[in-house]
Amino acid sequence: MALAEESGRSRRGAAHGGRAVGQLGASPFGAQRSGGSVISPRLDSLGSDGAAVRLGIMGGTFDPIHIGHLAVAEQAREAMQLDAVVFVPTGEPVFKKDRDVTPAEHRLEMCRLAVESNPAFDVSDIEIRRKGNTYTVETLRQMRAHYPENVELWFITGADAVASIVKWRESAAIAGLATLIAVTRPGFALTEQVKDDIASAGPFDVRYLEATALSVSSSDLRSRVANGLSIRYLTMARVRDYIYEHGLYGAASARGKAACCDAEASELNRY
Ligand code: ATP
Ligand code: MG
Repeated sequence: MALAEESGRSRRGAAHGGRAVGQLGASPFGAQRSGGSVISPRLDSLGSDGAAVRLGIMGGTFDPIHIGHLAVAEQAREAMQLDAVVFVPTGEPVFKKDRDVTPAEHRLEMCRLAVESNPAFDVSDIEIRRKGNTYTVETLRQMRAHYPENVELWFITGADAVASIVKWRESAAIAGLATLIAVTRPGFALTEQVKDDIASAGPFDVRYLEATALSVSSSDLRSRVANGLSIRYLTMARVRDYIYEHGLYGAASARGKAACCDAEASELNRY
């Protein structure tokens, strides 16, 4: 188990850190929608020129996507010199059967709105198009089958999610498909015990990354919206607008309290 960056990068002699991002396609703004693509219209041809590419994969329910997800992806991209990060919203989450998850189309669209200003980010509906339960191993297998060998897969996960890796379907197989980036998350300690558990789940190549602590969660955003409280600055303005426009998380009843006064400011300052 490697704890720091190692020679994997130089193995293929490529210079990482943005070079391949320019090859992702001219429009980062989601103009194209799926339409026969495997991963995403922009990312399907990644690595086709033979150059080494590191693709970060950020899986999650994203109900809704928030600044914690985005900051983690950005800091992982920077620290591990990933050329791109693809957000992969779950179809039917295996571990979230206890509550009604928002329809996938909404979660997908919010992800698209959230990443559109970052040319290194994209979104894939690969798990949503697949019927049945969502399993990370299936997604990684699909990606591995699609991309040539020169595309390395790096799976990004927060401390809470990585701790449950022992419960993942075919967790040992995941070790052979992707390098794992385990990112710190407030409230979830990456203890030696957790690290041992991960090691016992399979021969993982894990990189531990201390990210800027953002104690934000989708659960908190959902509850804030339901209670008429502001979610400004907790997610991208466009995502917040989308939530109110579509009345997600009980936003319809909360509209009077939070949305109306935020709307004007949202126009003035679309961070
Ligand atoms: P919920 O509260 O509904 O569980 P969440 O905020 O945990 O939502 P998920 O979609 O469950 O978001 O998480 C997707 C991935 O992002 C997981 O790997 C999770 O660990 C990570 N993650 C989410 N929020 C943060 C955060 N604030 N800091 C670090 N990692 C995070
Ligand atoms: Mg979660």
